[in-house]
Amino acid sequence: MHLLVFIKQVPDASQVRVNYNTGTLIREGVPAIINPFDKHAIEEAVRIKEKFSGTVSVITMGPPMAESSLKEALSMGVDNAYLLSDRVFAGSDTLATSYALWAGAKKIIEEKGDVDIFLSGKQAIDGDTAQTGPGIATRFDIPLVTYAIAIKDIDLKKRTIEIVRLIESGAETIETTFPCFITVEEEINKIRYAPLPYLIRAARATIKILNTKNTKIDSSKCGLKNSPTKVKKAFTPQKRERGEMINKGSMQDTLNFLYENIESTLKDMGKI
Ligand SMILES: Cc1cc2nc3c(=O)[nH]c(=O)nc-3n(C[C@H](O)[C@H](O)[C@H](O)COP(=O)(O)OP(=O)(O)OC[C@H]3O[C@@H](n4cnc5c(N)ncnc54)[C@H](O)[C@@H]3O)c2cc1C
Repeated sequence: MHLLVFIKQVPDASQVRVNYNTGTLIREGVPAIINPFDKHAIEEAVRIKEKFSGTVSVITMGPPMAESSLKEALSMGVDNAYLLSDRVFAGSDTLATSYALWAGAKKIIEEKGDVDIFLSGKQAIDGDTAQTGPGIATRFDIPLVTYAIAIKDIDLKKRTIEIVRLIESGAETIETTFPCFITVEEEINKIRYAPLPYLIRAARATIKILNTKNTKIDSSKCGLKNSPTKVKKAFTPQKRERGEMINKGSMQDTLNFLYENIESTLKDMGKI
């Protein structure tokens, strides 16, 4: 079985502060980490490999410094690590990012064989769009299962997988076929400590670099000028005043209270 995990290097959000004068993030001195959801995707891929045997590859698109995240992935039990890095990718939006990652994944498939399960985090803690995984799955035209909290069963003969995923009202279990794309929640597993042999192997490993020269990536689909999303303005939202919680016991009593007091409440708020 071949599993491919998409990981993103992000600034450690717990240490990022906002400059309220300029409305920008203060990134200086902030350590870069693997996006927390992606670490769980790596852990899940390694657990599946340990149970069913196979190979785990990871890929990240980012600057050369993202190599450190790939080395950390190798220390968690990953077998192959790829850095997709080229100046033409700078400023790519989610459409361009998912295109480049899809093209990079196709190169890995050429080198290491077909992928059965693609995994990513449910979202990145910096960009937060949750669009990259679905964007890649759509390009491969394969089943996509988002917000996974457990892999219940894998049947290698039938090439099927049962996944428990979060939905608004709780959770649902669905079965799909390989190849498929899964985006994971943190609940899916607990990350184990890296064993010493993996740490040593990771420290010695060389990371394979993918770019526009050694892949079939079309540079006219990447980068800021080829990204349809345009950021018109970035600003810090004004602090909202805390509202008052209205709870009159039952839902019906609360609704009755709101209905009876809506006019005076709106007047108090200066809305009418
Ligand atoms: C107009 C515009 C310009 C931008 N310019 C820049 C820029 O100059 N520099 C910059 O760093 N960002 C830039 N970005 C942000 C960049 O587009 C996003 O970081 C990227 O598309 C991923 O989206 P996201 O962070 O919302 O990830 P999500 O879609 O929330 O991520 C979901 C999952 O996809 C995977 N994933 C996401 N990104 C990567 C990646 N790079 N490699 C591997 N796996 C990944 C991870 O598993 C992650 O958990 C720009 C965005 C826009 C809209």
